[in-house]
Amino acid sequence: MSIPTSEQKVIDAVPKQLLIGGEWHDGGGGETLAVEDPSTGETLVEIADATPADGDAALSAATEAQFAWGDHPPRERGEILRRAWQEISDRADELALLMTLEMGKSVAESKAEVTYGAEFLRWFSEEAVRIAGRYAIPPNGQGRMLVMRQPVGPCLFITPWNFPLAMGTRKIAPAIAAGCTMVVKPAQQTPLSMLALADILQRAGLPDGVLNILTAKSSGKLMGPLIADRRARKLSFTGSTEVGRELMKQASEQLLRVSMELGGNAPFLVFDDADIDAAVEGAVLAKMRNVGEACTAANRFHVATGVAEEFTQKLAARIGAMKVGRGTEDGVEVGPLIDNDQRGKVDELVTDAVGRGAEAVVGGAVVDGPGYFYEPTVLANVSAESRLLSEEIFGPVAPVVGFSDEEEALDWANRTEYGLVAYVYTRDLGRAFRVCERLETGMVGLNQGMVSNAAAPFGGVKQSGFGREGGVEGIEEYVETKYVAMTLP
Ligand code: NAD
Repeated sequence: MSIPTSEQKVIDAVPKQLLIGGEWHDGGGGETLAVEDPSTGETLVEIADATPADGDAALSAATEAQFAWGDHPPRERGEILRRAWQEISDRADELALLMTLEMGKSVAESKAEVTYGAEFLRWFSEEAVRIAGRYAIPPNGQGRMLVMRQPVGPCLFITPWNFPLAMGTRKIAPAIAAGCTMVVKPAQQTPLSMLALADILQRAGLPDGVLNILTAKSSGKLMGPLIADRRARKLSFTGSTEVGRELMKQASEQLLRVSMELGGNAPFLVFDDADIDAAVEGAVLAKMRNVGEACTAANRFHVATGVAEEFTQKLAARIGAMKVGRGTEDGVEVGPLIDNDQRGKVDELVTDAVGRGAEAVVGGAVVDGPGYFYEPTVLANVSAESRLLSEEIFGPVAPVVGFSDEEEALDWANRTEYGLVAYVYTRDLGRAFRVCERLETGMVGLNQGMVSNAAAPFGGVKQSGFGREGGVEGIEEYVETKYVAMTLP
C-alpha cells in the first residue's frame, strides 16, 4: 500500500540521520532502521542506525560543548527554548500527523501530546533564569557561605515509544535550561518525532554539540558503553521497570546521577459518595488516553460495591462506543497498539482474567486485519489473582473490582510494587485528604482522570522510580550544588 502524499510530505520533512556535533550523519556501519506504521504493519521509512563509534562521537561532542554551554547566558538558553516552543506550536498539525504515523494514536491525541510536549519547552524557558544559589553567614559569624548551582554536565537520555515527543522534552528542556549538554536515544519504534524536535531546536539556535541524537536498532549495545563512560555525568531513563533496573546496575559502576521514570499500575478508586458520571468520564480519560499505553493509565478500577454495577455499565457504554481505526481517520478515538508483541501481551492478560471467571461486559478480543488493534474492553467479576491486577496492561482494557470500605480500597490501591499515580473519586473532603495522604504514589488525580502538566512535578515512588520531571522540581535533576566556604581576608 502506498503512503498518501500528505503523509509522505511530513515524513520527507524529517531528518533521517544521526545528529552529532551539530551535523547530520549516516550511521557509521551503513545500516538502517525501519520505522513502521502500527496501523498497517508497513514500513514508513528507513533511518540511520547508530554504532557504538557513533555513540562515542556523540558523547565527545556533548563533552566538548559542555563548558561553553554551561557558561551561556541563561536568558539566551531560555529564548532558544521559547523559539522552539513557538515553532512546534505553529506546526502542531504536521507534527501531530507525524506522531500518529509512527505511534498509532489518533491525530487529536497526538495534537494534545504536541501541545503538552511543547509546553515543557515554554515552562523551562521561564525557569532558565531562575536557577539561584544562596549566600549565608555561618552560625559562628566567621567567614561566609556561598552555594552555587551548576549544570550537572553531559547527560544521557533514553526515552520510550508511548509519548514520542513529550518524554523527550521533559528531559531535554530542563537540561537546556540548566546548561547541560546531552545525548538522546529515542525508542526505535518512534524516532521521527524526536528527529523533528532536534531539527527545530537546531534552527532555534541551539549551539552545535548541545543536543546529539542517536537512533538505533540495538539500544543496549549503543548505550552500554556510554553509561560506562566517565565523561557522562547523568542518566535519565523513561521506560519499563525491568529495563530501568538493568540500567541502574550499569550506572552504579561509575555512580552516575540517575533519574528513573518507570512503569505504573495505577488504581482508580470510586467511592460511593462520588459523582458517578464524573467518575466515568475521568475513567475514560485515565484508561483510554494513548490507547491505554501510558505509564499513568488507570490499570484497575476499584469501585464501592453499592455503585459498582452502575459505574461498570456506564463505563462499558462509553468505552464500547469508541471508534477504533487508523489514527488518521476522522472520528477515530482508539488507534492500534504499538506492535504485535504488545497486543499479544494484552490479549494474554485478558485471557488469563476470563479464565479465572471475569466477564467481558464489552470487547475482550483482538481485532482482525492489518495493524495491531485490540477491542476497547471492560471486564467485571475480576478475581483477585488475575494477572492484569498486578501487571501493567498497556492497552485499552478496564478491569473492575468491588470494595466494601475505605480500608479495603486503600489496601487494594497500595497492593503493588509500583507507585506512580492513583486516581480517587469522592465528594467527601475528609476522605479525600485521608486517602491522598495514605496512597503510596508520587501523584494523585483527585476527581480528575489526568495529572500530566508541565508545571507539576511528575514522577513515582517504589518501583515506579525516582526523580521528578516538570514543575520547579524538574530543574533540580540537572543542577549540582557546590558550596564555597569563604574566609574574608
Ligand atoms: P522499554 O523499557 O522497553 O524501552 C524504553 C527505552 O529503553 C527505549 O528507548 C529502548 O530502546 C531502551 N532500552 C531497552 N533496553 C535497553 C538496554 N538494555 N539498554 C539501553 N536502553 C534500552 O519501555 P517501552 O516499552 O519503550 O515503554 C513502555 C514503558 O515505559 C512502560 O513500562 C511505561 O509505564 C513506561 N513509561 C514510564 C513513564 C514515566 O514517566 N514513569 C512514562 C512513559 C512510559
